[in-house]
Order: sequence, then structure tokens, then C-alpha cells
Amino acid sequence: MIKELIINLSILISAISLGTQLGKGHDHLKANPYTHQLIFGFFTGILSITLMYFGFIIYDGSVIDFRNVAIMISAIYGGGVSIYLCSIMTAIFRIIYFGINPLAIYGVILTIIIGTGCWFIASNKLRTWQKWVYCTLFNTIASSIVLIINYFYRKDFKFILSVYIIASIVVSVITFSYLEYCFTLNKLYIKLAKESSQDFLTGVNNVRQFHKTLKQLAVNAVDKAERLSLLVIDIDNFKNVNDTYGHNNGDIVLKEVASILKDSSRSFDVISRNGGEEFTAILLDCGKDNAIKIAEKIRTNIENHSFVLLNEHQIYVTVSIGAASFPESTKDIRRLYELADEALYQSKKTGKNKVSHV
Ligand code: GH3
Ligand code: MG
Ligand code: MG
Repeated sequence: MIKELIINLSILISAISLGTQLGKGHDHLKANPYTHQLIFGFFTGILSITLMYFGFIIYDGSVIDFRNVAIMISAIYGGGVSIYLCSIMTAIFRIIYFGINPLAIYGVILTIIIGTGCWFIASNKLRTWQKWVYCTLFNTIASSIVLIINYFYRKDFKFILSVYIIASIVVSVITFSYLEYCFTLNKLYIKLAKESSQDFLTGVNNVRQFHKTLKQLAVNAVDKAERLSLLVIDIDNFKNVNDTYGHNNGDIVLKEVASILKDSSRSFDVISRNGGEEFTAILLDCGKDNAIKIAEKIRTNIENHSFVLLNEHQIYVTVSIGAASFPESTKDIRRLYELADEALYQSKKTGKNKVSHV
């Protein structure tokens, strides 16, 4: 029996590892709750069927399995659609695989009761561990009642019931601990992946991601003989903003400049903060004329924007922009950044708040 218990725990642990691994980085699915719940329901339904298939004999013909744990996972982490899909799959398999007999009918009724009960518990505003504890209690009590009805006449009934209750609680505790561990790892992974490419203050790409993306897009532009432009954008006299209004207000300006840059460029252009008060915009499939137009739009949008600071003060800032385009500025696309930077220097040297193109 210990052997079977270990097999069932291994199935649960493998399913959780696989599920959380496959779900990693697919948070966009949560934006569509029905798709997310259907996938989750199907996955937990398969898990429930597998656990039922690996059900085992405790003693002299009395079989137990841990399908309820899959149903709990479905209810707590999936939701309404998920739990019903999981329960229906479980009930259908129960009938097809074991045939229709009084035990199967009890099994199906129990699955429906447990599914509904867990969903009811899961839809309450409780902490996840509380939901898990209540669902475990509910499952154990409901399953024990079915065991009592089926095995009450047997001499070894108390033994069967005790083993079932202990095994259920042990499996439940191990499953929950491992689930939470995997979810924490996933969250950390997503956070680290984001932080390694995003600027913490403005949310646009950081300098590392900028160089990586520019390299990829440059290779792409050369391969497809497409144009590519780069703008280097630097806030004018930004040190004065910090010195006059403080660093926190400087940060507000940086965040808003990043958001104006996104709004003023096209949705597929790549905006990054390359450090301090310097930003870049990689303009895809964009030649010199269009690059100058976009740069002018950015410059005027920033010039006309009123930045509201913490003390309700309103200030105006300007930017200088350097632009370079492939293939107009250079046939060697690797020089794009260097040339745009040179153009920025021109803008600064000749009075600031202007666009220069080399
Ligand atoms: P120029 O017109 O020549 O570009 O002058 P500038 O004052 O904008 O340039 P300078 O390089 O002299 O100063 C840049 C300032 O940017 C200095 C630094 O305190 C500020 N800075 C850099 N990073 C941050 C940041 O994350 N937050 C804030 N608030 N300020 C920053
Ligand atoms: Mg500056
Ligand atoms: Mg600068």
C-alpha cells in the first residue's frame, strides 16, 4: 500500500511540475478566463482520470484513489468552468471504465458533490491555504460518508476508514506545499525575466534589452532589405529639474517622457531607456523622411506637455534628438547607434530642443 501511495504522489508531483512548467510565461491566457479555465479543466480532468486509474486496494477489495485532489486543484486554481469540465471528465471515465453499478453511481454522485462543494468553497474570499484546508476537510468527510455507506458491514471498516483519512490528509498537505512552491518559483521566474529586460522606473526596455533588440532588428533589416532608423533622445538641462524640484520630481518627468515616447511613436517601434535621461526609439521599416517626422512629433509633444509635479507645480521640458537611418546614413547598419549619437551631439551643440539627422 505504501508503494501505491508513493506512485500516486509521484503522479501528482509530476503533473504539478509539468503543468506549472507549461503554464510558465502564459499569463496572457488569464486575460481570457474561459480559455484559461477550459485548458486548466482539461488538464486537471486528465490528472483526475489518471489518479482514478491508479486507485489501489487498501485491504481485501476496498479501493481508494485521489481524484478528489485533482478536483480541488481545479476548483481552487481554475474556477467554475474548469471544475465542471474536470468533474464531467472524471464522471464519464468512471462509468466507461468501471461500468454502471451501485459503486459507480456512488462514485459519480460523490464526484459531483465534491466538485460543487469545492467550487463553493473556492468562490469565497479566503486565503488559498484556507480554501485548501476547507476543501480537504469537505472531501475527506464526503468520501468517508461514502466509505461508511459501502463498507459499514465489514469487520475491517474502521481500519479502511482510518487509512483513507490519514492517506488523504498526507497527500493533500504534500500536494498543496508542492503546488505553492511551484507557483512561487514561476512568479519569481517571470519577475526576474521582466526585470532583466525592463527599466524599473519607466517600464520601457532597459539598455541591455535595447542592444539585444537592435542587433536582432538590424540582422532582420539587412536580410529583408528593409529600412531601419534609430532616434537617440536626451532631455535638455535635466540636471536643473533635479536640482530645482528634487529627484522624485525628476523621476516623474522621466516616467512621463517614456509614456509620451510610446504614444508618439508607432505601436511596433521599440522604446528604451538607455540610462539616466537618455532614451532611444528603434523605428522599424522606417527611412530618413519618416524618421524625421516621428522625431519632430516626439519633440513637439514633449515641448507642449505640461508635467505636473508632486507639489502641483507645472513645468515644461524639451528634448534634443539625434537620428540615423539605414541605408541613408550608412550602409554599415552596425554604425547606426554611433551615428544617431553623433547627430544628438549636433542638436545639443546647436541650441538643443531640435532634431538632427546624419
Ligand atoms: P544636457 O541638456 O546637456 O543633456 O544637460 P543635462 O542636465 O540634461 O545632462 P547631464 O548629463 O548634465 O545631467 C543628467 C542628469 O540626469 C544628472 C542626473 O542627476 C540625472 N539622472 C540620471 N538618472 C536619473 C534618475 O534615474 N532619476 C532622476 N531623477 N535623475 C536622474
Ligand atoms: Mg540631458
Ligand atoms: Mg544625457
